[in-house]
Amino acid sequence: ENYAIKTGIHPKDSTLKNIATMEKQLREMGASFDWDYELATCMPEYYKWNQWLFLKLYEKGLAYRKNAPVNWCPKCNTVLANEQVVDGKCERCDSEVIKKNMTQWFFKITEYAQELLDCLPDLDWPEKTKKIQTNWIGRSEGSQVAFTVEKDGEILKDENGNDLKLEVFTTRADTFMGVTYVVVAPESELCNILTTDECRAAVEDYKVFTSKASDIDRMSTTREKTGVFTGAYAIHPLNGRKVPIWTSDYVIAAYGTGVVMAVPAHDERDFEFATKFGLDIIRVVQSAEGVEDELPYCDKKGILVNSGEFDGIEMHAAIDAIVGKLATMGMGEKKVNYRLRDWLISRQRYWGTPIPMIHCEKCGVVPVPESDLPVLLPYDVEFTPDGESPLAKCDSFMNCKCPKCGGDAKRDPDTMDTFVDSSWYEFRYVDNKNDNAIFDKDKVKALCPVDKYVGGPEHAAMHLLYARFIAKAMRDMGLIDFDEPFTSLVHQGIILGPDGNRMSKSRGNTVAPDEYVAKYGSDVFRTYLAFGFAYTEGGPWSDKGLQAITKFTGRVEKLAEEVSGTPKCDISALSMGKEEKDLNYVLNYTIKSVTNDVDRFQFNTSIARMMELINAIGKYQQTANADKGFVRYCTEILILLLSPFAPHMTEEIWCEKFGNDYSIFNQKWPSFDESALVKDEIEIAVQINGKVSFKIDVPADADQAAVEGLVKGDERFEKALAGRNIVKFIYVKGRLANVVAK
Ligand SMILES: [Zn+2]
Ligand SMILES: [Zn+2]
Repeated sequence: ENYAIKTGIHPKDSTLKNIATMEKQLREMGASFDWDYELATCMPEYYKWNQWLFLKLYEKGLAYRKNAPVNWCPKCNTVLANEQVVDGKCERCDSEVIKKNMTQWFFKITEYAQELLDCLPDLDWPEKTKKIQTNWIGRSEGSQVAFTVEKDGEILKDENGNDLKLEVFTTRADTFMGVTYVVVAPESELCNILTTDECRAAVEDYKVFTSKASDIDRMSTTREKTGVFTGAYAIHPLNGRKVPIWTSDYVIAAYGTGVVMAVPAHDERDFEFATKFGLDIIRVVQSAEGVEDELPYCDKKGILVNSGEFDGIEMHAAIDAIVGKLATMGMGEKKVNYRLRDWLISRQRYWGTPIPMIHCEKCGVVPVPESDLPVLLPYDVEFTPDGESPLAKCDSFMNCKCPKCGGDAKRDPDTMDTFVDSSWYEFRYVDNKNDNAIFDKDKVKALCPVDKYVGGPEHAAMHLLYARFIAKAMRDMGLIDFDEPFTSLVHQGIILGPDGNRMSKSRGNTVAPDEYVAKYGSDVFRTYLAFGFAYTEGGPWSDKGLQAITKFTGRVEKLAEEVSGTPKCDISALSMGKEEKDLNYVLNYTIKSVTNDVDRFQFNTSIARMMELINAIGKYQQTANADKGFVRYCTEILILLLSPFAPHMTEEIWCEKFGNDYSIFNQKWPSFDESALVKDEIEIAVQINGKVSFKIDVPADADQAAVEGLVKGDERFEKALAGRNIVKFIYVKGRLANVVAK
């Protein structure tokens, strides 16, 4: 859509064109996709099921609307999810993100916060990615405690006429008796309720000031603390003390309750704030009896002081004692808190799935009936953003009838975050043409969960978390019967420009696949991609590496040509001399290594093993009585091992040169003979007084006496000994002979 705004080309046109181009490139490279199962998330056949999913989540209470402060990108003119704000900036355009209150749709991912954590250890995912998710979910165990409020000399009541409770989450309930003020987030509704008329002007000014700061800035520990008094007081439930309620932007409405209790004696940030504004500082924890630790004292060990009935209690035990007391008063309880927020999915954008909800003046929010899906995204819409949803300006889209009362109503003008598309697409691939259901349960059951998922690490806290959440929600709806969508995950590395920097047009270091494919063919290009980089690490592009592959594939073709006229030998009938055994060892070692390495995404070492094999074949061909049938046999296996990397060339050799049946891809993957990997002879090092003197071949099963005989019989040994006497001879089986000489 940003591209569309820039160029004026309709997003649908450019998207479909891009899909066609990329599909062509992938086909040219021989990528093995079954194109019958292709899907495009921007087509109604797909997004109809986004809408269906939305309705199901709504039924389950997992989709809801609320007025909330949201991240707003002033340049993109749209709301952003927390995950799309990077260092306080818009992930797409790098503009400074600001806060704005809007009514938005949310998916209740927090409902699954604990399960999303609990399932992580069992996933075969990179540890770093699991850690990112763990931190993002941010579980902390603590307590929720409450204060009542005095404003203008009276106890403040809630809408039901009960005492208004100011709820606070804390991990340090032991310091509760040291609370000297309370802070409320400036953007929260509570701040408006608490502020007295006398203080309103100052608070309003302050709100304007803080709306410009990003969450990251606000939470920064080095940022100068700012704030103003709201005019209201919190009443401490245990000692009855009246403490002032301030507003400061280091408290964020979206985190926890948007209110914090301040204990300046035992918290760096509170201490700084209290010192600046002249607020009370009361010590309630000491490292030991009678010790006056320097304040703020933030160590998590010690005993309570100045805490009335809790004096002398060890601080961890004090948490239980204090929260226990508060619980009897209905003013506190133990609580687990999560940093994870619900997933904001409304976008004031054109290019997305229309939200299947109708707003009726009489009936309120009414879901579009399932039978009316899909709600089609109209084509002719002015999509240049001006802060309002583009669809809101399209009358033919907006005006509709209320499904409940039949009266005039309006559609929801927003579209869904495009991450909704990818939150469940893995299941749709299995059954992409289904018109009657989101997917067939049995088909998904047969093929899912995805056993190997490849994607970038930048998705750690977004797509990969959303998809896990949606899978769990679908499981609870009975759509699938497993817990996790992707059992095993691999992050691909990034191929850099030849200069070692990220490829970019402005740096002029881009490498265009098409040119290389045209010049060298896609087999060379693919094999180089496999050989030139550790798959998960990537690295700089190298034309030299590509040349090495050109040389290698050239040798393979030449060898295939040479052996094309010779039938392959019957390996079981081949009489194996030393040379044959050596080559057979390399052959089987290669099969074993490639089989294991490919499984572990170690494609570069797989190619390296095949290069060693072709060297060994070449060496064998030089020997006097080389068996041509055996060379052909080894070459066929090499061709089979190479086929996933260089499919076109190997298919041609297999059928045309070797006259085998079509296709090489219908053949069994070569298996290796474990007994060929047991060497008759092994090379060991001979050490004299701890220094390697020379290397010698000995029978693999030789014992100490036999090895001692062989070593002593070698003329190099006598020379190395230089007249000294052997004190000790130790043979470490299969590795070395250690000789102590004097
Ligand atoms: Zn932006
Ligand atoms: Zn209605």
